[in-house]
Amino acid sequence: MKSRPVQRFSRARIQIITMDIEQFRMRGKEMVEYICEFMSNIHNRRVTPDVGPGYLRPLLPSEAPQEPESWEDIMRDVESKIMPGVSEKNNHSSFPKKKTIDRYLQITHWQHPRFHAYFPAGNSFPSILGDMLSDAIGCIGFSWAASPACTELETIVCDWFGKAIGLPTDFLYFNPGSKGGGVIQGSASECILVCMLAARAQAIARLKESPAHAHLDETALLGKLMAYCSRESHSCVEKDAMICFVKLRILEPDDKSVLRGETLRQAIEADAAEGYIPFFVSTTLGTTACCSFDNLREIGPVCKKYSGVWLHVDAAYAGNSFICPELKYLMAGIEHADSFNTNTNKFLLTNFDCSCLWVRDRFKLTGALVVDPLYLQHTHADTAIDYRHWSIPLSRRFRSLKLWFVMRSYGISGLQAYIRNHVQLAKRFEALVRKDARFELCNEVVLGLVCFRAKGTDKLNQKLLSTINDSGKLHMVPARVNQRFTIRFALAAPNATASDVG
Ligand SMILES: *Cc1c(COP(=O)(O)O)cnc(C)c1O
Repeated sequence: MKSRPVQRFSRARIQIITMDIEQFRMRGKEMVEYICEFMSNIHNRRVTPDVGPGYLRPLLPSEAPQEPESWEDIMRDVESKIMPGVSEKNNHSSFPKKKTIDRYLQITHWQHPRFHAYFPAGNSFPSILGDMLSDAIGCIGFSWAASPACTELETIVCDWFGKAIGLPTDFLYFNPGSKGGGVIQGSASECILVCMLAARAQAIARLKESPAHAHLDETALLGKLMAYCSRESHSCVEKDAMICFVKLRILEPDDKSVLRGETLRQAIEADAAEGYIPFFVSTTLGTTACCSFDNLREIGPVCKKYSGVWLHVDAAYAGNSFICPELKYLMAGIEHADSFNTNTNKFLLTNFDCSCLWVRDRFKLTGALVVDPLYLQHTHADTAIDYRHWSIPLSRRFRSLKLWFVMRSYGISGLQAYIRNHVQLAKRFEALVRKDARFELCNEVVLGLVCFRAKGTDKLNQKLLSTINDSGKLHMVPARVNQRFTIRFALAAPNATASDVG
């Protein structure tokens, strides 16, 4: 048997191969240049990929390189194996390509002007720069002491944004006597999860106090808890209920895809009669399929009546639009909510991840999530926020920086103009659908989402959508609205214009 070769490390060699600050200065400028070219020429790329699963494996070595590779080689592979969707004649990239692999078209280009799938993936230059700085600061802001600015800016920016969209003042942190406050999470799924956990902890604690249940342990009580949402709620609510190990009753919305108070009331009463304990209702403002709005004015009083039912409002997409005074009516009934979330990384020009959550009573949140080992404690714990008690992970990025950059660079007026542009363009697309006798409209167009279908069978529409997506020129995804297959046209490009809509 051969003996293993002895590894020798030379200090000089390691210094040569590491990117030093001067190289970073150069590569950083090149990268900004690359990003600018990518952004200016993205319309020349295909919007959808045309590769199948597993395309990348044969193109890359099966093991990480033993020896350092040159930056040029890495970037060449980015351009030839990761980014494509560009034809040779339109290739403006500054990086030379290897001859072999330019036929593959590998990325779905979310920032493409003809990307109309899902909801927008927020993006803007101030936000990118904010994230760059956050990466460089590289702090892990789990407690106030771990990085005071990281914590304090987050609280302040959440208050700014909460005020701008018109949340009840109870949700703000800097408000005399307030128990509320905002926090930035990684996703709407996490926002809903932490609220469900808080509601669960509160419900269990309350049950343990009641003579009828005091003898039961937590696991027995858990089996009695019932959460509610609408069929139009995002699938993450179902996942969150799975994680929380609670039952979830999925309710039927009305024919406009709106969850109504009476439906909830009947379900709660029927469940209570069977011994279940209703504890959490997740509503949606701006549903993912068709951007419908649950009726909070009706649902709020139902939750109040069954005291202790936590009312959550998931406005991942639409919540951002409430920054426009003329759209605030969409949040009517918000005064009944215990918690509210919106993703600025969807509809407010901020890059993923930046999901804002506000709660009316932060002590209910921390009551469910505080674990406090000695090594994380600090002397200001009584007077400062420790955001680790507001979320699942311990470590957290300096996310508020990019939102702060965005809010200051655009100003409220710029953000309003951005939202209004998307709304107007959606209305324009809606008008085109209405004018064309071959198509029908399938949702009420309120923000930047139009659901439509060709008059005819679901099959015809499926075929239409796959033809659109296979062309590589446009990208849309389907949704089931009122039991029918429809095509979703979402405004996504930050600077979309009338010519992008047709
Ligand atoms: C997009 C979306 C979500 C999921 O958001 P994540 O941040 O990806 O978890 C939840 N709810 C609604 C209404 C959404 O549109």
